[in-house]
Amino acid sequence: MKDSLQQLDISVVIPVYNEEDNLEPLVLELEEALTKTGKSFEVICVNDASTDSSLERLKSLRASRAWLRIIDHSVNSGESAGEASGFQFAHGEVIITMDADLQMDPADIPAFLEALKPDIDAVCGVRARRQDNFVRRLSTKIANAYRNFITGDKISDAGCTYRAIRRKALREIPVFNGMHRFLPTMLRYQGYRVEEIFINHRPRTHGVSKYGVGNRLWRGIKDCLGMRWYRSRVVKGDRSREVL
Ligand code: UDP
Ligand code: MG
Repeated sequence: MKDSLQQLDISVVIPVYNEEDNLEPLVLELEEALTKTGKSFEVICVNDASTDSSLERLKSLRASRAWLRIIDHSVNSGESAGEASGFQFAHGEVIITMDADLQMDPADIPAFLEALKPDIDAVCGVRARRQDNFVRRLSTKIANAYRNFITGDKISDAGCTYRAIRRKALREIPVFNGMHRFLPTMLRYQGYRVEEIFINHRPRTHGVSKYGVGNRLWRGIKDCLGMRWYRSRVVKGDRSREVL
């Protein structure tokens, strides 16, 4: 895994902040789902300076699993930074992002790979029957409608970070706090093709959500204005070829 030239089929990138009780079941579920695909894979857990035993749990899970990699942040940097760190270290041709909280089901991975047809660059999960409370569901609905209106995009569930993205499409994604909510929109601006699929969504049974209405809805709305600026200045992503 240390060889930077090594190519794999799949890298699963998971930001982890205080998820100690979710990590073992998550890794076991991923092991089963990924092995079944018959593809080469790695799972990159980005520990975002957790204050619980997440890092120790990851280390002991890694002892018997060469495909499990751990990236450690020196300071808590947020979910977007976690994804971005994972992208930097990933070797997979396809990167799958997901939460560490077990709300997303590793059994959906084959459906993502199936939907990622040769002419598609990214597939985004849409939570069909979302297992969160009413206030969170409503705030997401309002933010989603507003953001699509402002950004000119048509993302059904921007808050869902269960996605499969071709690594080459991520080369020029700007990294900022909040990036993870706008990845599909920025990919579309850059000229990439983004599809959606319905996924299973499960209630959180261990740990707590790191976001509430205050730190998600209002910041997200502000970021939409940034997206309008980005759209007006965007450079196409897949534009250069070496002439041999
Ligand atoms: N997370 C992180 N750093 C943070 C906050 C969250 O790495 O500062 C991780 C968290 O452990 C989870 C993912 O980002 O795997 C999404 O967070 P969470 O599940 O709390 O958000 P929600 O799904 O409730 O919006
Ligand atoms: Mg979550």
